[in-house]
Amino acid sequence: MSSEPTETSVYVHFPWCARKCPYCDFATEPIRADALPHDAYADALLRELDARAEALEGRRLKSVFFGGGTPSLWATNALRRTLEGIREAFEEATEDLEVTVECNPSSLDRTRASHLRQAGVNRLSIGVQSLSDPHLRFLGRLHDRDRALGALDDATKEIPRVSADLMFGMPGQTIGQLAEDISTIAETGVRHVSAYALTIEEKTMFGSLHRAGKLRVAPEARYAELFEHAERCFTDLGWTHYEVSNYAADGELSRHNLHYWRGGAYLGLGAAAVGCLDHGPGRAERWRNEPNPQRYMRQQTLEVEAEELGPDEIIREALMLGLRTEDGTNLVATKQRAGRDPREGREHEIERAIQRGNLVLDGDWLRVPMDRWLKLDGIVRDLF
Ligand code: SF4
Repeated sequence: MSSEPTETSVYVHFPWCARKCPYCDFATEPIRADALPHDAYADALLRELDARAEALEGRRLKSVFFGGGTPSLWATNALRRTLEGIREAFEEATEDLEVTVECNPSSLDRTRASHLRQAGVNRLSIGVQSLSDPHLRFLGRLHDRDRALGALDDATKEIPRVSADLMFGMPGQTIGQLAEDISTIAETGVRHVSAYALTIEEKTMFGSLHRAGKLRVAPEARYAELFEHAERCFTDLGWTHYEVSNYAADGELSRHNLHYWRGGAYLGLGAAAVGCLDHGPGRAERWRNEPNPQRYMRQQTLEVEAEELGPDEIIREALMLGLRTEDGTNLVATKQRAGRDPREGREHEIERAIQRGNLVLDGDWLRVPMDRWLKLDGIVRDLF
């Protein structure tokens, strides 16, 4: 490892929700509020941090993200202890460290937002999903429009940076409804939105209903229309479309996610968390923790899967993630991490994509122009 500390982000997975949403395939279980093991989970996370202490030597803490699941169900004191443990585990941290917590409107109010701020949290990402009550009911969410707006109001009063998750592609959703969701959210003072298309995942309740022919879904062309319209709405607001699903006002980009998309090292903590740490050019290790929260807390084994990444895998990840962003993949940084030029062996594929207008080479950056983002998966696939 070089003498310059390696910037490393931390992702903490909180594996419980008040209810399982019918479209969700994240590693999360429904739990009653009075059954949440607040302190036992924090203790397990701190034990994991201890066990990984050696791997954190020579690293600088870049950002912390508490995701899930619904971390806003977690007692703030337990979250605070975990955050303090993370800070102590690193010799140094980036100035103005970004600390984000994912919250659901049904478990966020002004008091909780204030406690989170006092615990050191400076960014919230709120699962609004929609401001239409019929769409929220369809998605099986616990909140309605009023609670979503109330949570955004509470959050923006207490926390300097607030992001909202928005979903599009619900059956019957009109362009006008999506535009209204976007403008109303922006009026609340939120300055970052992650906008995702509703996808039907196989191992979910929606997946079963869809297979049985009992779930109406929007036609493919509708998704494209909604995606393009969302982009127009955010452009009118003066926001940047800096990643396929992410929009930000000036200076509000998610540093944590950008670090990940740029192939930065990250430590995953908690049940089902994934981590990936580099060990010098062309070598990295990626692992996935035990997904069952009870087994994770007993911690007989931390990881259920671990794999060594070599130059090929590092380059593949760098292209798959980096090309999702406005800037694209930095070829020089990727070469340093992979120990090999990412263009090597795919010169013809890159050249052909450039000729077709699917890729642009801009100095050290290779990117997919925004007007081709709807075809992104195919463009990236053609490079391998
Ligand atoms: S609240 Fe979020 S993480 Fe939890 S089940 Fe619903 S979509 Fe999944």
